[in-house]
Amino acid sequence: MIQISTVNRRHGEDPVLRIPEFINRLNQINSRAILYTNNNRTLQYRIVDIANITNFDRNMMRFIDDDAMVPLRFVSRTSEFVDSHFLGTVDIDDLLGGSNHSFQLNLLHILEERFRTPDYAHRRTIFDRPHQLAIVAERNHLRQLLHDQSVRYTGERERRSNGYVFTYRSDRGYRIEHLFQTANGRVTSDVFIIQNNNRTPLNEFLRDNQLAN
Ligand SMILES: [Zn+2]
Repeated sequence: MIQISTVNRRHGEDPVLRIPEFINRLNQINSRAILYTNNNRTLQYRIVDIANITNFDRNMMRFIDDDAMVPLRFVSRTSEFVDSHFLGTVDIDDLLGGSNHSFQLNLLHILEERFRTPDYAHRRTIFDRPHQLAIVAERNHLRQLLHDQSVRYTGERERRSNGYVFTYRSDRGYRIEHLFQTANGRVTSDVFIIQNNNRTPLNEFLRDNQLAN
C-alpha cells in the first residue's frame, strides 16, 4: 500500500494542491496499459491492457499490492533534496521537476527504499541497505529500457556547486547520467546518454534507437 499525505509547513506552499498533478503525471506515463487514482489517500491502480505493462508499471503494482503501508508524505518548497528517508517526506516540486524518465527512476528509488526498510511506517532508521537496493531497482529499470543487461551502477557524487549525479556504464560504449540540478531551491532532473562525447536525453536516445518505452 502507498499512503499519500501532506505536511503543510509554515511559509511553505500547500503541497495538497499539487497531488492531482502527481496523479496526472503517473497517468501520462502509460495510460493505455494502467491508470492510477488517489482513493481516500491510498494510491490505487486499474489495469487497462495487461499486454502493454512496463517494468515501471509492474513495480508500481507490486508496491501498491504489498501488505506493508508506506507513506509518501508530500512537502512543498522545501530545501530538502527530493526526499527524506528519515522523515518519510517527498518534495513534490522536486519530484514533478523531473523529466518523465527521471520521475519514474526517482519514484522507483524512493518506493523500493521504503518498502525494503522493515516496518518503514514506524521505524525509519535503516538506510544503507535499502538505498543500495533502490539503486539496483533503478539499474534494472535502465537495463529494461535500453535492452542492455550490461548496464551497471558506477557511483553517485556532487557535481559542480549545485548538481548531483548518479552514473552508470554499459559495455556497449556509452555512459548514463541521472543528473539533478538545483536553482533557487528547486530541483530539476533528467537522464542522459553519453556516447562519443555526445550527450543525448534518454527519451531522444530511445526514440532514435527505436527502443521507446
Ligand atoms: Zn536512496
